[in-house]
Amino acid sequence: MANYNLINEKDPKLIEECTPWNWETDGEIAELGRDMLKVMFEHNGIGLAAPQIGINKRVFVMGNPTQSFICVNPEILSGTGEAKEQEGCLSFPGLWLHVNRFETVQVRYQDILGKQHEREFSGLVARVFQHEYDHLNGICFVNKVSKLSLDMATKRRKKFLKRK
Ligand SMILES: [Zn+2]
Repeated sequence: MANYNLINEKDPKLIEECTPWNWETDGEIAELGRDMLKVMFEHNGIGLAAPQIGINKRVFVMGNPTQSFICVNPEILSGTGEAKEQEGCLSFPGLWLHVNRFETVQVRYQDILGKQHEREFSGLVARVFQHEYDHLNGICFVNKVSKLSLDMATKRRKKFLKRK
């Protein structure tokens, strides 16, 4: 089992476009998936994308210890509704931002065996899916809010980190 860790929020790997997972050239993905879930649970996260541990592949995990998904080569087919809720990100500890997302998304992804799934998600799961999907395109949640919101949240973050 490889020992992965979260990369720094300023690492250029976080703003790179990720390439699809290819079973023929990249090999098995089960072990990476397990390693990613381990990192996510260690940090009490509910989602983690491969670039956050320095791997620029289109893979993310989400869920909790009783129910978790490994999503490979995910796509968002369509989205409806709008929801603005507070989000955090394991790459930016202590930073909380209100981000606009679709309320419901229709998605497609492959599982660790390469089998394709089409699903509809709403609420928190839809939000996590969209957040992690953005990571695969080099987009972090700090890029989804106004400069004013980000400045205010950054001030709150500094106070929060000082208190820790
Ligand atoms: Zn994130």
